[in-house]
Amino acid sequence: MSRQTVHVLGGGLVGSLLSIFLAKKGFKVELYEARTDMRQAEIDAGRSINLVITSRGLNALEQVGLREQAMDIAVPVKGRMLHDIHGQTTFVPYGQKEHEVINAISRGLLNCLLLDAAEAHPNINIQFQQRCTDYNIADKTLTFNDQNNIRADIVIGTDGAFSSVRRAMLDQVMNFDYAQSFLESGYKELFIPPGENNGYRIDKDALHIWPRGQYMLMALANMDGSFTCTLFFPYQGPQSFAALKTEQDVITFFQKTFPDAVSLMPTLAEDFVNNPVGSLVTVKCNPWHVGGQALLLGDAAHALVPFFGQGMNCGFEDCFVLDQLLDTLEPDWESVFKQLNEQRKFNADAIADMAVENFIEMRDTTADPLFQLKKQVGFELEKRYPERFIPRYSMVMFHPEISYAEAKQRSEVQAKVLDKLCANISSPEQLDWAEVERLLATHLA
Ligand SMILES: Cc1cc2nc3c(=O)[nH]c(=O)nc-3n(C[C@H](O)[C@H](O)[C@H](O)COP(=O)(O)OP(=O)(O)OC[C@H]3O[C@@H](n4cnc5c(N)ncnc54)[C@H](O)[C@@H]3O)c2cc1C
Repeated sequence: MSRQTVHVLGGGLVGSLLSIFLAKKGFKVELYEARTDMRQAEIDAGRSINLVITSRGLNALEQVGLREQAMDIAVPVKGRMLHDIHGQTTFVPYGQKEHEVINAISRGLLNCLLLDAAEAHPNINIQFQQRCTDYNIADKTLTFNDQNNIRADIVIGTDGAFSSVRRAMLDQVMNFDYAQSFLESGYKELFIPPGENNGYRIDKDALHIWPRGQYMLMALANMDGSFTCTLFFPYQGPQSFAALKTEQDVITFFQKTFPDAVSLMPTLAEDFVNNPVGSLVTVKCNPWHVGGQALLLGDAAHALVPFFGQGMNCGFEDCFVLDQLLDTLEPDWESVFKQLNEQRKFNADAIADMAVENFIEMRDTTADPLFQLKKQVGFELEKRYPERFIPRYSMVMFHPEISYAEAKQRSEVQAKVLDKLCANISSPEQLDWAEVERLLATHLA
């Protein structure tokens, strides 16, 4: 098995990490990436996106010895800073323990780090500007944009949300389930430059959110003192991308809606006009594999909307699980792929659903006092009953030993408990602890 070649399509975050895992196991890896080598190209305006990396992603990086290097280019983020319409701010911590922070990291820098590590491994051969245009599953043949045909016994598609490998499965595999759903909002990147002496102009330890009901603005710190902002905004409607036609429309809207953000964004109008609008898609499919011949991983198998910051983290966790399965099931690829599908599919579905739910929470309820009360009460319950109550956000971000599916299931029960406990109080001090005991014994025993 170790002499076999695995053909990995897509040298993004997941494909490059996967290649390193496979190479360390002794496989030869041919990695094909559609784009030019990002280490030599300028990142397109509005496509720089910084990401949040959390325990699941970091665990996977640790396995290949890259955790520390990734943390060297990350900015720790301790909580949400909510900005109201008058510019008043409220800080809501993500967790209550010292280590319960998330980490902002540049997508480009992380991808370059992974490509460097992949390229340095003698078992990995990377080919750029190789876009797969067809995968003939019966013939085990990949075709590329330059008409090159390659025989490929084992193919792993890590070619993102609009995967060519998945399209081949859709066309050629009987009973292949596939669903994609787009949100009615898209996103646009904007920018807060560094302040004097490359300092941060707002608190770098927080993910800044300007929640405004149907839409929101977010800002996440970069290493160089700047912030990448993302506007999540409906495509159509009175307040939408379609409604903001001129630079003046943009400025007027931002001054009214995000007054304290406008002064931080000197290139706002220009960025708004020049940067593209990205779509927000959830993809679910099944099965993720064709026998022991082809597998989908990362966004190709499960694209998520970004509101839990878990798309890449989930994809990295896929790689970690695949690596563990190879340890036990070698040399049977079909069993490896089948087990992976069984272990990961329902977890990916769970985080996909929680990510959509988190959009509502972030844009809407974060500004609601009841949301903040529930967060505080949740922390109190976690302090007193750590075995029984862990807030959903903490389970997803800080407890990789709890699967996504379990986090979803437990947090749905916890939400009912919180609804009851918070119905008639306005602060955690008013909690009736006898009632808490009774509810936990009934629902979370
Ligand atoms: C606005 C936004 C914010 C996000 N924030 C977070 C976050 O905070 N945390 C988080 O964990 N996730 C986040 N995500 C999700 C994260 O970006 C994705 O889950 C992650 O990039 C998936 O990695 P991937 O390698 O599977 O796919 P991609 O990153 O899409 O990489 C796919 C690669 O395949 C290549 N490719 C495509 N087609 C072909 C082809 N036919 N042949 C060869 N190569 C091909 C592409 O060029 C690309 O390099 C966010 C996403 C968005 C849109």
